[in-house]
Amino acid sequence: MAANSSQDRPKRIAIVGGGISGIGCLWGLKDLDYDIYLYEAEPRLGGHANTVMFQGRGLSVPVDTGFIAMNEQNYRKNSRSASEDEMLIQVCLAEFNRFITSLGVKTIPTDMSFSFSMDRTFEWASTSMSAFVGKASNLLSPWFWRLVFDIARFNLFATGLLVQPIDLVDPLPSPFHDEKDLDGGHYQEQKLESIDEYLGRNSYSNQFKKYYLIPMIAAPWCIDPDEFMSNFPAATLIQFM
Ligand SMILES: Cc1cc2nc3c(=O)[nH]c(=O)nc-3n(C[C@H](O)[C@H](O)[C@H](O)COP(=O)(O)OP(=O)(O)OC[C@H]3O[C@@H](n4cnc5c(N)ncnc54)[C@H](O)[C@@H]3O)c2cc1C
Repeated sequence: MAANSSQDRPKRIAIVGGGISGIGCLWGLKDLDYDIYLYEAEPRLGGHANTVMFQGRGLSVPVDTGFIAMNEQNYRKNSRSASEDEMLIQVCLAEFNRFITSLGVKTIPTDMSFSFSMDRTFEWASTSMSAFVGKASNLLSPWFWRLVFDIARFNLFATGLLVQPIDLVDPLPSPFHDEKDLDGGHYQEQKLESIDEYLGRNSYSNQFKKYYLIPMIAAPWCIDPDEFMSNFPAATLIQFM
């Protein structure tokens, strides 16, 4: 066998992307005997974790444009994770946590709230019941009570979807439709039920979608509202919430 055969050399690992996932992976693998290469398309690391300085009105303020909130409790390995994917994500997050701890970056306790205003016709905030109700006249509005009812219903019952078999709707058009799977049977590539389909199937109101769910999800994640409703899988969203 040649002295420098490929078996003698450490295995090489390529990590594509230097966001928190890539950095977490790199940190977790750094003490193992591998040649690790991190590929990042941008001139800076961090991906969605990005702080820019806002300057104006005589002020200079650091603003996090993406990733802001993390905590030691969620960003650690949890052996009760449901799936391998979840486990992998937790490993990356735990390693990212260890990475920033080793740099001496401290986390600080904070709170998180949300407020929403649509042309001042309807607005709500998450800080208290009275902030949610806003105008006293809302208390006399069936429209408003339907919104409250749907919020309560969603929070109480939506997780039921997670214990049902995965809901599949029409098959995606796919060139693989007629291919055989490994057992010789036919399989079809199918699409998960979107959040819009789930809400429609359960007769959720328009105000619940427009004034609660879309702002709560699409705004912080910078997702196009229409794309969110038609493409975001219901089960993924409900599991996240
Ligand atoms: C507005 C916003 C706010 C968020 N706030 C939070 C929060 O507060 N807390 C939280 O936990 N999560 C938050 N998230 C989610 C969180 O930011 C992301 O889940 C996390 O940052 C994703 O990290 P990542 O490394 O997987 O991907 P990214 O951060 O997207 O990094 C991917 C990296 O890969 C690079 N890349 C892509 N393609 C290639 C290629 N072909 N070759 C080389 N490099 C490539 C990109 O340039 C990028 O740097 C937020 C997301 C958004 C959009």
